[in-house]
Amino acid sequence: MSVQNSHQVFFTSAAIAKGDPEHLLNWQQRWPNFSPNELASRDGGGLLVNYKALDALQQLRTMWRMPMVIGSAYRTQDHNKRVGGAEKSLHLQGRAFDVSMRGRSDASVVSFIYYATKAGFTGFGMYLDRPSPFIHLDTGSHRTWQTGQSRLDDTDDVGELTPQFQ
Ligand SMILES: [Zn+2]
Repeated sequence: MSVQNSHQVFFTSAAIAKGDPEHLLNWQQRWPNFSPNELASRDGGGLLVNYKALDALQQLRTMWRMPMVIGSAYRTQDHNKRVGGAEKSLHLQGRAFDVSMRGRSDASVVSFIYYATKAGFTGFGMYLDRPSPFIHLDTGSHRTWQTGQSRLDDTDDVGELTPQFQ
């Protein structure tokens, strides 16, 4: 653990391997459906836990009541560049999650968006026309976009490639 304040805490990949997030935070009680590994940067660059964003993710999971496959959560600058993320992507702050919608019915997708809004998510990027469809959620300013849309700001991850769903 190297950086901590009331909003967020950072763990290196070595700290994650040692189980520090579980030991130092109230992880199992607070975020029972997610593991530090699935939220860490895919390049081994560690995990930035933004408490408010992760609380929203857990709340969404609890209300939606379906397994959630996370393609991309926290990203280091390097990894964000590699996957074509926006320059000021909220993935860099641990405040964005790409959730797979593969195999979900239209009704499930609609209820997912409904519960995401109730849980406190405010940014929505729709990538539903991809071979591996997903929705980007974040806790930034209120905005929505989809693949191919022209009005975007520099936090909108419209450029992001298909995340690597595990
Ligand atoms: Zn995203």
